[in-house]
Amino acid sequence: MFDSLKERLEGIFSKLRGKGRLTEEDINDALREVRRALLEADVNYKIAKDLVERIKERCLGQEVLSSITPAQQVYAVVYEELCNLMGGKKERLNFAAKPPSVFMLVGLQGSGKTTTAVKLALKISDSHKPMVVACDLRRPAAVKQLKVLAEKARILFFGPEEAGSGNVMDVTRKALSYADAHLIDVIIFDTAGRLHIDDDLMTELEQMHKLLDPSEVLLVIDSMTGQEGVNVAEAFKEKAGITGVVLTKLDGDARGGAALAVKAATGVPIKLVGVGEHLEDLEEFDATRMAQRILG
Ligand code: GDP
Repeated sequence: MFDSLKERLEGIFSKLRGKGRLTEEDINDALREVRRALLEADVNYKIAKDLVERIKERCLGQEVLSSITPAQQVYAVVYEELCNLMGGKKERLNFAAKPPSVFMLVGLQGSGKTTTAVKLALKISDSHKPMVVACDLRRPAAVKQLKVLAEKARILFFGPEEAGSGNVMDVTRKALSYADAHLIDVIIFDTAGRLHIDDDLMTELEQMHKLLDPSEVLLVIDSMTGQEGVNVAEAFKEKAGITGVVLTKLDGDARGGAALAVKAATGVPIKLVGVGEHLEDLEEFDATRMAQRILG
């Protein structure tokens, strides 16, 4: 994960450490390289530029220039600013004051939405009685996949009577009644995925949103998609009222763009990260730990 960005930053800092005292020019050169490394990691140009400006402003103060360990100080500033960029504090999931809590998982096909629905249910199953609901009705395979994964994780599943049939709003209503009758306190809806954002998808999500009044609308993004993932988040934010992001496939060779920029670009925090194909591989997002991983 983020291997090339990490390598680049390591190189930049090792060069700085080798210099002892630093001049303004040394810092400017180093930060220019940091910016280039961010762009190569597929961070949006404006976000990379603003970030580096902020770092520069703090690093060109006397405190850093006259320090006996200036490279370390620059490192600390970069670390802090990376944390801030990614949201700083840990963002917890919102649960409804009065159960059931409803979570809608939204996102493009292949992003990891179905897997994440079950991972999330499993993660909270110690302290909750969750149920997953299949609402990707146009793709029978998606309904079946959710059912199989839920069975594997021993999580309650609700879906259309016959995979590939039924109406989304109908299934949604029935799921609510079922949950009510069975004292289920968290209902996780796996909504339809598409290859692209389209009006039908957004209308469907809007209707579900109206009926469900969800505690969370979590957008699942494949971190490998980099800046494109951020664009997707911007579109979903505008149309589907997302409250949080789940970044999946961080165990792969994601360059880092989405993790670094999604909060800055949309204001929506990353809440969870998928770090593998197993159902246990879902973690709370921690900006400080992520910044440590990136900086090495
Ligand atoms: P959906 O179309 O959005 O519902 O996506 P799926 O849940 O079917 O996931 C697509 C593929 O990504 C599947 O093969 C999953 O096993 C895989 N996947 C999902 N999350 C992760 C993750 O965090 N890491 C890895 N390595 N694979 C993941």
